[in-house]
Amino acid sequence: MSRRRRIGVMGGTFDPIHHGHLVAASEVQAQFGMEQVIFVPTGRPWQKGHEYVSPAEDRYLMTVVATASNPRFSVSRVDVNRSGPTYTVDTLGDLHAEYPDADLYFITGADALEQILSWHRVDELFGHVHFIGVTRPGYSLDDRHLPQGSVSLVEIPAMSISSTGCRERVAAGLPVWYLVPDGIVQYITKRGLYRETPSEWGPVA
Ligand code: ATP
Ligand code: MG
Repeated sequence: MSRRRRIGVMGGTFDPIHHGHLVAASEVQAQFGMEQVIFVPTGRPWQKGHEYVSPAEDRYLMTVVATASNPRFSVSRVDVNRSGPTYTVDTLGDLHAEYPDADLYFITGADALEQILSWHRVDELFGHVHFIGVTRPGYSLDDRHLPQGSVSLVEIPAMSISSTGCRERVAAGLPVWYLVPDGIVQYITKRGLYRETPSEWGPVA
């Protein structure tokens, strides 16, 4: 009997992508026997409307660099290419159209899972996708606020890493080696990312 293709979707700002994101995707891919995990860097993240975010093209390229060596990882431009704020309901609509014969699994860390009910048009999401909540140090993983059967909870190796922490380290002149892949350390240096304090970054494009 043939089984429907399983595709994981890992959305994020990825400013920058770090080993917490990569371990989450790898662990879920293996546990659920997914054909691939698609990383989807946001265009303009709606939750971060008042914060400064690096250009989408830099975040997209870092995601490509970080995932290139894994044959089960790929990167989608659907959110980068869509204008306006990024809503997950649009992301999943676009990916459903691209992979009509696949079951999509949206992967979120425990912090994002806490917020899901505040997401735009969330009711439509539950009909179209299964959520996978993964553990993240500092947050408790709980699905009691979400519809029964809509979420799987998965324990992953604990990585106490955040993009905010990486940006702060670069701004303070501290290393981010081993928190992000080597190519990302080099990309950050090459493009001079995160050196300035956020107030000097300029508005989100
Ligand atoms: P920021 O500090 O800028 O918010 P972040 O580290 O939270 O960055 P995001 O791009 O916001 O990274 O997160 C994308 C997804 O990855 C979210 O679902 C988030 O919960 C998850 N995630 C991020 N870091 C980890 C981690 N260390 N362990 C598990 N999940 C994580
Ligand atoms: Mg975050």
